[in-house]
Amino acid sequence: MQASTYPLVDAAEAAETVLANTPLLPAEEVPLAGCPGRVLAEDLVSAADLPGFAASAVDGYAIRSADGGGRLRVAGESAAGRPFTGELPSGADTVVMVEDVEQGPDWVLVPDGFAAGRNYHEPGDDLRRGELVVRRGTVLGAAELGLAASLGLPVLKVHRRPRVALMSTGDELVEVGQTPGPGQITDSNRWALLAALREAGADVTLLGVAPDQPEPLRSLVTSALHGHDALVTSGGVSVGTHDLVKPLLESLGRVHLGRVRLRPGKPFTFATLPEGRLAFGLPGFPVSSLVTFEVFVRPALRKMQGCAAVQRPVLRVRLGYEARSSADRTEYQRVMLVREDGELVAHTTGSQSSSRLLSLAGAHALVRVPPGDGGLAAGSRVDALILALPD
Ligand code: AMP
Ligand code: MG
Repeated sequence: MQASTYPLVDAAEAAETVLANTPLLPAEEVPLAGCPGRVLAEDLVSAADLPGFAASAVDGYAIRSADGGGRLRVAGESAAGRPFTGELPSGADTVVMVEDVEQGPDWVLVPDGFAAGRNYHEPGDDLRRGELVVRRGTVLGAAELGLAASLGLPVLKVHRRPRVALMSTGDELVEVGQTPGPGQITDSNRWALLAALREAGADVTLLGVAPDQPEPLRSLVTSALHGHDALVTSGGVSVGTHDLVKPLLESLGRVHLGRVRLRPGKPFTFATLPEGRLAFGLPGFPVSSLVTFEVFVRPALRKMQGCAAVQRPVLRVRLGYEARSSADRTEYQRVMLVREDGELVAHTTGSQSSSRLLSLAGAHALVRVPPGDGGLAAGSRVDALILALPD
């Protein structure tokens, strides 16, 4: 083992360094069918009022409210897509529901007392011409897709998804499904990171396991970089003689971070490579790789896609347990959130060992325990990065 020469960088500062070196990917035009989950690269502005005409909200009869209380002649019918005159009969100011009238062959008996302005939408009630409808940087969900269609836009400008090459490193790793021999373990990081990358909007190329040998690792990495915006590796970033990722990235580009004051995840490595590419060397321990993904990689991937909100939402929650802190590292502890007395209370998911992936399964949040000697007493308030809210 050798001592690492990389300075220990504060976790928040390291996160800023990553974002400051993360480029925005260009926009492309994509038909609506490919847009769910993509990030809008333009503002959507309404070119016209919506609805474009006065539209009844119910099946019924358009009348002048002052004419209520008598028998009224039926002048015509307006059906969906087949308007009577293109709009509400002139002077009509309210629509009386079918259920509320007595119908004759060519007349209706309308009771008195219907107020004006009921049961219909004025032109522009839903959207005004010139109104900003969906802002750039928004992740396109159901309402946004529906709005884009209503605006008559079959194609939207969205940012390209980051193309990410993903590989595991380590001579001890075997493919999932193979029986590990003595001293071997199954490569689980690749699958965990695949899910995390996809959730963050990346287009992932799954590469295999790279061995702990400089030359094969180098040739795998250099050929993987082609056609990708980022490389994500796990393992091989601590300070043992078999940990080859840092020196390799040094030779290919510039290593900005080699150690961070973060627990778990101290050996997290970040480099920029030629042609605007990024490389994330995640630690090998399964929890460390996913926590560093959350803290550093996910925000970067969101920034690449032009997301207005790159970070997970943070809520102040009450600690339901006594949290030990680490002396000089920010600690992200995995918790479940439970509603108690109208408040969210964080309960630990159990042993926080960096190899215990079960501490992340079903976790609702990562609570941020600042460095220090004291720790945090049960009942204190703490920031929680929300991964999922409890049912
Ligand atoms: P390393 O940083 O390469 O020394 O990895 C630290 C530890 O993480 C190893 O001893 C393995 O137990 C574990 N590990 C590394 N890579 C993987 C992987 N792809 N899947 C599961 N566990 C891993
Ligand atoms: Mg290793």
